[in-house]
Amino acid sequence: MAANDIYDLIVIGAGPGGSAAAIKAASAGLRTLIIEKDAIGGTCLNRGCIPTKALLHASCLYRQAAAGSSIGVNCTPEIDESVLASYRDKTVSSLVEGLKTSLKASGAEVVIGKASIVSTEDLIRVSIETSDGIMECQAKDLILATGSETVIPDIPGIDLDVVTDSDRLLKADRLPSSLVIIGGGVIGTEFASFFTDLGRKVTVIEGLPRMLSGFDKEISRNAQMILKKRGADIHTGSRVTSISEGEDGSAVVAYESDGKTATVTAEAVMIAVGRRAVTDVAESIGIKVTDGRIDTEGLGRTSVEHIYAIGDITAGPQLAHKASAEGENAVMSILDDNSIIWPDLIPACVYTSPEIACVGMTESEAEAAGIDVVSVRALTSANAKSVITGEERGFVKLVADRTERKLVGAQLMCANATDMIGELTLAISQGITTIEDCASVMRAHPTYEECVGEAFRLLEKKLDES
Ligand code: NAD
Repeated sequence: MAANDIYDLIVIGAGPGGSAAAIKAASAGLRTLIIEKDAIGGTCLNRGCIPTKALLHASCLYRQAAAGSSIGVNCTPEIDESVLASYRDKTVSSLVEGLKTSLKASGAEVVIGKASIVSTEDLIRVSIETSDGIMECQAKDLILATGSETVIPDIPGIDLDVVTDSDRLLKADRLPSSLVIIGGGVIGTEFASFFTDLGRKVTVIEGLPRMLSGFDKEISRNAQMILKKRGADIHTGSRVTSISEGEDGSAVVAYESDGKTATVTAEAVMIAVGRRAVTDVAESIGIKVTDGRIDTEGLGRTSVEHIYAIGDITAGPQLAHKASAEGENAVMSILDDNSIIWPDLIPACVYTSPEIACVGMTESEAEAAGIDVVSVRALTSANAKSVITGEERGFVKLVADRTERKLVGAQLMCANATDMIGELTLAISQGITTIEDCASVMRAHPTYEECVGEAFRLLEKKLDES
């Protein structure tokens, strides 16, 4: 890159959204520059989904090994924290290297530095603060993919050293022996699952009446029940009032629950009360932002011509696959090409064990949308693969439109749910598949997927009876 180079496209932020956009654009022949101020791969790869899922894989193995004697596999698992940390870091670095290779192969240029937009007249001028000094370049179009950061709640004591967030915990060489988690959303639930599987003491303090409140009620109730069964203390409808440090250096968390106050002590406290969109670059040039998220229309167009916004900084769930799809779609809009990724159907997954995966509408959302709803629930208790592997009792719930005989939503809580949700997303996405079509597909035996087939057959029967 030379000073004042002119690009077809500049992407700010190299998380899953920005990287997908840059690879798509450069592969399509656009001269593309991607600028990242921190690490290629963004939150998801470096301090979010990937290290979390690596740790969850390890803790799941640990729990299964500890229970192995029930099927004649006797062992006493032990955690070697330094090996665990190096496995986590190697997983991250191998995927980061893979992403760097894909960016290079696509022809996208990469610069590490902090970008700001200088002007939007005629071409878009961008200034980059790099370790070698300030550089400037220009582009016809620009995609903002600046992501999100942990929300720090206003609680006395929140600045103490004993308080951490998922970003820091995912870089730590040593895990706390006990943890209080403030917030029982997706991050709180996945970390609670990790720590309880390792047999460590976890307390979750959630403000709302249930954990995973954005999910189907039955799913959040079951997830909470399983965590409790595995040893977690869960206080919903509760509010942390202060955090202080005990004489031995432990964290003392005071909270209110049912009008009563109580305290809980742990080695550390993790904040997981949501993520705030990073919109400073957009706001500095007056791009319209509502409720902390950048306003977009069409495929990511912002209020300033030729500037697009994608991922966590726009409305909707803050998920890596949504960001990637939006990144690719913004490029298709720039290229004036209609072959986009369906943007309205976003699967959501939680990597607890059993896994949780949802797509489309829940039963109550479908009812609220005025749909004549029919729903079924197939239990995994008679599913051969689940019986063989000794899975927790799970289910596949399907929600359909009675008149159209089409699937409008699915909620799964069972082994491999996060892989099986793809079939259901496909069934809903194009609106062309009927329940009969889905029920008539042959599924291999024994597989977890047979439960999806069972749910479709139950749905077909219920529709025929009504
Ligand atoms: P979240 O919005 O999922 O959950 C935050 C929770 O904190 C909510 O339940 C909220 O009621 C609670 N809360 C807020 N203030 C509180 C307070 N003062 N005291 C107690 N509880 C309080 O946010 P998150 O779990 O931090 O996750 C952030 C984002 O990252 C989410 O959008 C999530 O979708 C995404 N993420 C996704 C995955 C995944 O796809 N598996 C994993 C991790 C994170």
